[in-house]
Amino acid sequence: MESTHPDVERVLFSEADIKEIVGRMGAEISRDYAGKDLVLIAVLRGAVVFMGDLMRAITCPLAIDFMAVSSYGEGAKSSGVVRIVKDLDMDIKGRDVLIVEDILDSGLTLNYLMKSLSHRKPASLEVAAFLWKDVEGRETAVEPKYVGAHCPDEFVVGYGLDFAERYRNLPQVGVLKPEVYS
Ligand code: 5GP
Ligand code: MG
Ligand code: MG
Repeated sequence: MESTHPDVERVLFSEADIKEIVGRMGAEISRDYAGKDLVLIAVLRGAVVFMGDLMRAITCPLAIDFMAVSSYGEGAKSSGVVRIVKDLDMDIKGRDVLIVEDILDSGLTLNYLMKSLSHRKPASLEVAAFLWKDVEGRETAVEPKYVGAHCPDEFVVGYGLDFAERYRNLPQVGVLKPEVYS
C-alpha cells in the first residue's frame, strides 16, 4: 500500500495510475513526432513533475524549454490574462512545439499563451495535458491533442500541483481534507 499524506482525503490517481497514463502518452507522442523537430515546453511550476516523467517516456529526439506566467490576481479561477514572467530561451520558429501542462481547467491561461507563441511561427503547436477538467456543458478554450486523464471538477493537489505552494511533491494526485483550507 502506498503511503498517503495525512492532509489528503482521497487519492484520485495513484503512482501506478500515473505511470500507466504517462507511459501511454509518451508512446503516442513518440509515434506522432518521429522525424519531427520536437520541443517540449513546460509551464512552470506545476508542470515540472509531469515534464520530467513525460520526457523520459518519449523515445524520439527532443529539446525542452520552460516558461513562467503569472495570472493577474491570486484567485482560484483564472482570468486568462497572463503576463510572461520567464520567456523561452529557445527560438521555436519552424519547430514542432508541444506544450506540457499539468492540468487544464478553463484553458484560458493556455489559450492566451498559445496565441502569443503562434506569433513566433512554430511548424506546429499542440498541448499535452496530464489532467483535463472537462466539465460537462462548459467549453475549454483549448483542445489538448493529448490528454492523460479526465479530472472531476474538484481542486486537486500533488504530482506538481499545489495548494499555496505546498503538496507539489506528493507522488499521487488527490483531494485535500476540507479542514486544510480553513
Ligand atoms: P485555466 O486557465 O485552465 O483555468 O487554469 C489552469 C491552471 O490553474 C493550471 O495550470 C493550474 O496551475 C491551476 N489549476 C487549475 N485547476 C487546479 C486544481 O484543481 N488544482 C491545482 N493545484 N491547480 C489548478
Ligand atoms: Mg499549470
Ligand atoms: Mg498553483
